[in-house]
Amino acid sequence: MTTEAHVPTADGPLLEVRDLHVEFRTRDAVIKAVNGVNYSVSAGETLAVLGESGSGKSVTAQAIMGILDMPPGRIPKGRITFRGEDMLTMSGEERRSIRGRKIAMIFQDALSSLNPVLSVGYQLGEMFRVHQGLSRKEAKSRSVELMERVRIPAARQRVNDYPHQFSGGMRQRIMIAMALALEPDLIIADEPTTALDVTVQAQVMSLLAELQREFHMGLILITHDLGVVADVADKIAVMYAGRIVETAPVHELYKRPAHPYTRGLLDSIPRLDQKGQELYAIEGLPPNMAQVPTGCAFHPRCPMAQDICRTEVPPLHPVRERDGSELVGRGSACHFWKETIHG
Ligand code: SF4
Repeated sequence: MTTEAHVPTADGPLLEVRDLHVEFRTRDAVIKAVNGVNYSVSAGETLAVLGESGSGKSVTAQAIMGILDMPPGRIPKGRITFRGEDMLTMSGEERRSIRGRKIAMIFQDALSSLNPVLSVGYQLGEMFRVHQGLSRKEAKSRSVELMERVRIPAARQRVNDYPHQFSGGMRQRIMIAMALALEPDLIIADEPTTALDVTVQAQVMSLLAELQREFHMGLILITHDLGVVADVADKIAVMYAGRIVETAPVHELYKRPAHPYTRGLLDSIPRLDQKGQELYAIEGLPPNMAQVPTGCAFHPRCPMAQDICRTEVPPLHPVRERDGSELVGRGSACHFWKETIHG
């Protein structure tokens, strides 16, 4: 049985997250932000982790990167392995040596991630000077190469410009260049295009996908927008209230969602053939993580909810065809997944 979306590769997974739990202790409550998350990504593979704000997708990424604020954060349970090594038992120094060199992260807000008083060339070059001991001149020339690689026009002339002199899309390309600088095995991109307009979003996303293929890296793409991942991801894990509620190879998920939440997200994507029609929106708001609803956390918003949904947490069931054959990589944490997928 495999409920985790998995595209087999010869090398095995680069990164595996197993039964990960993350909680935050506040004065009044323990907020269980991540509750038993499982996923993996292999070299050359893109996993999209999808969910609304507060679903636990970014907290999981921060746990992988080792950049969670602890305390108040805590990882009471779970394993994160990178190339088979348990990252949660590594020393701080070992974690730091993996960060940037082996696993790099791209954040949503390039402007606040870049230092406003240093030129982008200096900031890119620093990666080479600090990690590879290159001279200033060599580092600058590598920076120009990287800027050209992420298609920044007139890179040689612009290498000494400051972050505010670039557009939002160009700044995000610079963030991609910084992530690529040390040729990591895995990139985690957390909402990398959210702050950009739709056209620039598509360009940045396709550049990221192209570089991921060229460098044969693993890519974890964290997003709240199902509309941006169809052409770039191999598989998707949908998160809700700290759990994975559906997993699937990407095109299967779009064709036949097996969880009512995923179905709601798909119905909320604007479609050209439905011009003029009112856009569907999932009713209600994501749950307050200090007071997660009992049973299936989605039940207050779910059009299919029944009594059992209010009391029993649905496990991630393997999803099967009508004849009982298992759909590889598919899982749904819904008591009524059969009705959702088979209608
Ligand atoms: Fe809806 Fe119930 Fe399925 Fe949850 S378990 S998604 S409430 S039908």
